[in-house]
Amino acid sequence: MRVVVIGAGVIGVTTAWYLQEAGAEVVLLDAAAAPASGSSFANGGMLHASHAEPWNAPGVGLDLLRYLGRRDSPLLVRPYAIPGLIGWGLRFLGNSRRGRFEEHTRLNARLAAFSLKEIDRLQRELAPEGLDFDFRRSGILKLFQDPASQARNRTASEDMADAGVRFEDWTVERIIAEEPALAPVRDQLCGGLYFPDDAIGDAARFTAGLLAIARRRGLTYCPGVAVRRLRTFRGRLDALETSEGPIAADACVVANGYHAPDLLRPLGIRLPVAPVKGYSLTLPMNAGTRIHLPLIDDANKVVMTPLGDRLRLAGTAEFAGRDGSLNPQRAASVLDHCRRTLASLPEQMDAETMAPWTGLRPMSARGTPILGATAVPGLYLNTGSGHLGWTFACGAAALVRDSVLGDPPALPMDGLTL
Ligand SMILES: Cc1cc2nc3c(=O)[nH]c(=O)nc-3n(C[C@H](O)[C@H](O)[C@H](O)COP(=O)(O)OP(=O)(O)OC[C@H]3O[C@@H](n4cnc5c(N)ncnc54)[C@H](O)[C@@H]3O)c2cc1C
Repeated sequence: MRVVVIGAGVIGVTTAWYLQEAGAEVVLLDAAAAPASGSSFANGGMLHASHAEPWNAPGVGLDLLRYLGRRDSPLLVRPYAIPGLIGWGLRFLGNSRRGRFEEHTRLNARLAAFSLKEIDRLQRELAPEGLDFDFRRSGILKLFQDPASQARNRTASEDMADAGVRFEDWTVERIIAEEPALAPVRDQLCGGLYFPDDAIGDAARFTAGLLAIARRRGLTYCPGVAVRRLRTFRGRLDALETSEGPIAADACVVANGYHAPDLLRPLGIRLPVAPVKGYSLTLPMNAGTRIHLPLIDDANKVVMTPLGDRLRLAGTAEFAGRDGSLNPQRAASVLDHCRRTLASLPEQMDAETMAPWTGLRPMSARGTPILGATAVPGLYLNTGSGHLGWTFACGAAALVRDSVLGDPPALPMDGLTL
């Protein structure tokens, strides 16, 4: 069976890997010249089942109004993006009803926990072949300044216990003992939740490393090839029209991030996926900025992740349409928010040593990824993973493999399909 996968981000490469591992002949296409050039390039590095809540939590509408016009806020809606977001936005808000949100959180947590086991397996099996992506089963510490917020998070974490999410309640003393870099902000903290099964790793290094091994095992990778149209014959997927001419396929997996709706629209398939912009900074770790534990700062909505000898700072959610330009002020605001917790960070952003980056997360209006078969035989999806694409990558790829090959799914797919 010849399967064409569109998109060589972390989602497309893992999909290609799982299909090839199961015996399919796989062709991987990407418009960009190198893998992980899009949203997978410099993300927060967190592999966290503990953070499975969709972003459309109950009350998200009020949050959006509260932050409106505040340029340094972690959540920002650009007025020019609003017309293009109306349909998606109404569905996004509709899914913030408590029952739906809780159901989607459970689905995400189960997929994430499964995915973490899969990435752990891949890391162990493929390390001898050179797969190295600064992976560490370090656990992740979530810090709180507000006891009410900590209590809400504790309840949410308890609700995810069935999915296998475990946590420990840490006092401020325990936090400082485990992560002395936080001593200067001791008085601001009220406590933390530590998630021992979470992990960290560099998504771009993983994507490039896995692709290199897949190619050695026979995968065909075509960089610089843009897919322009999906062609059907008698209602079934037949071929892809690309910048390099037509490519025939028995099956095709659309895994091209927030661009996926463009390819599906001409086939009459409306895919509720929109780009949500975020920023990161990557700096060398030195004596002043060294942390041992990956940190999520609940109050300031940023993450700080030690990746080998580098520190990755990431955050912000911006509805800015498809504008992928890097706004230095927004990048600097990530540093500013991180400094409120990690006081030893430099005061000013220095683009020379801090490598600012921006990416567009492919966010589904539901808050769960959109996986598996479509109404068009031969056409499959793996997109919409939003703020959790790195976490979901291996689990989602395994489910899509099962769907393409017609095997029983490794997890129930209800609530994860179109
Ligand atoms: C700031 C930030 C921090 C994040 N932090 C985390 C985190 O800590 N943990 C976590 O789990 N997730 C995190 N994420 C989310 C995660 O990075 C994304 O969900 C994930 O990278 C999405 O991967 P993807 O492969 O779907 O998309 P992409 O990486 O964007 O890949 C899509 C690819 O498709 C290609 N393409 C598009 N259109 C076409 C076409 N027509 N033809 C051919 N190729 C095409 C593009 O060139 C691109 O290479 C973060 C995201 C951001 C922006």
